[in-house]
Amino acid sequence: MPERSVFIDGRWVASSEPGIPVIDPYDETVIGTVPESGATLATEAMRAAAAAFPAWSATAPKERADLVDRLADEIEGVADDLSALATCEIGMPLRDARGGQVALPAAVTRTFADLGRTLEWETRDASGTTVTLEASGPVLAVTPWNFPVHQIMAKLAPALVAGCTVVLKPSELTPFNALAIARLSDSAGIPPGVVNVVTGTGPITGEALLTAPEWEVVSFTGSLAVGRHVGAVAGSRVARATLELGGKSPAVVLPDADLDAAVAATVHNAFVNAGQKCNAPTRLYVPELQRERLVEVAVATASSYRAGDPLDADTTLGPLVSRAQLDRVHGFIDRARAHGATIRPASVDLPDQGYFIAPVVVTGVADDAEIAREEVFGPVLTVLGYAEVNEAIERANDSDYGLSAEVWAGTTHEAAQTARRLRAGQVRVNGQRTPMPPVSPFGGFRRSGLGRELGRHGLEEFLEVRSILGDPR
Ligand code: NAD
Repeated sequence: MPERSVFIDGRWVASSEPGIPVIDPYDETVIGTVPESGATLATEAMRAAAAAFPAWSATAPKERADLVDRLADEIEGVADDLSALATCEIGMPLRDARGGQVALPAAVTRTFADLGRTLEWETRDASGTTVTLEASGPVLAVTPWNFPVHQIMAKLAPALVAGCTVVLKPSELTPFNALAIARLSDSAGIPPGVVNVVTGTGPITGEALLTAPEWEVVSFTGSLAVGRHVGAVAGSRVARATLELGGKSPAVVLPDADLDAAVAATVHNAFVNAGQKCNAPTRLYVPELQRERLVEVAVATASSYRAGDPLDADTTLGPLVSRAQLDRVHGFIDRARAHGATIRPASVDLPDQGYFIAPVVVTGVADDAEIAREEVFGPVLTVLGYAEVNEAIERANDSDYGLSAEVWAGTTHEAAQTARRLRAGQVRVNGQRTPMPPVSPFGGFRRSGLGRELGRHGLEEFLEVRSILGDPR
């Protein structure tokens, strides 16, 4: 793709505006520069999406689904390049990027194409009314950096299948994979104006897009603070908002579970992508009598990570995404230590370069400690002891967030029963370790967000419902 350009109305538009350097978090070099799109480019992109909407929304659902399927083919066709690009932008180990940045988003894209073919777009209710499903309108999609391709396709694929056109603003830390998706959507034959990608920071490009009048739906994934703002803007114009925000997810290990296996698996789930994962289980509740021993299990497991060049096949711990993120994570750890927490760093050799941090297990804190309540977004696991199961569940549910949870018990049945008591949008039972299912709804209770992504629920976020009364058909 051309240097310093964004993708609007099927064309690469070069920008003379100041650029944003994109840094490889492993070697701290600049891998490229993207435009900081101001009001002019934002307006152009939004107008292109609005102009393309009538024709795209009137295109037959099967035709849209077939083009979205072709986009999945295109993603799979550049699997090696796309996963390596994501690795260079985020620092995610290549082995994880292959799954999270290619296989999962391709699978998600295909499930939406299938839904587009099988959905009943027009039904008849008991009173003879015809109910039709319609595209909601042009969409503003704003995405974060931690699983960028997945987060993009979880919005783009359902929006396109629904008949919506899209302006995507990816994170300024990871813009190149979004521009790659723009190029692939063009190669797939998706018409000009249907997919537009503009790059830039939140305060400049994000704000310029938010104030544009054309969008009818905003689909946002990111932090609670920015999500509140995006939701307020949507509320003020009575537009739809899907908000996928943060988490502080609990893992509850019941006394009759295989305790060591549960703790080791929780550590591995918490430290995927160096803990930069919205649904990471970062509050681990274990029986108090076993807590000290299980902290040792957690530290030993965390010490098995191998830090290094994320492009190397045997690297399992990459750097954090940016210097700012590294400083933020250190800040949480330093404040917890200052307030009396016991900090147990894993024994992991770190490279001399890059934004690396050794995984940390924290214990000796109360549930209301900052480190036990706030999202850290780094490889930090807090271990908390409980005396009794009802108490553990109550404490697990006592959070501002409710994105996901895990429960471990002696039997899957018992774990599944306990799962029903956990107030979270997705609950994993006894180490359900298959890759994230591409059709199961994902999203949060409470401050973790509004609405759902993936599956039929994810598609409905982009659909309006029209009742035609007295339709003779
Ligand atoms: P962020 O909120 O800082 O940024 C997210 C996106 O919003 C970026 O593209 C950013 O440029 C943009 N943005 C920032 N300010 C804006 C503004 N004023 N107007 C418009 N856009 C603006 O989040 P981040 O640091 O990129 O990502 C990490 C956060 O994302 C974490 O809190 C994490 O939990 C959350 N997250 C949630 C999910 C989920 O599905 N629930 C998934 C992944 C990440």
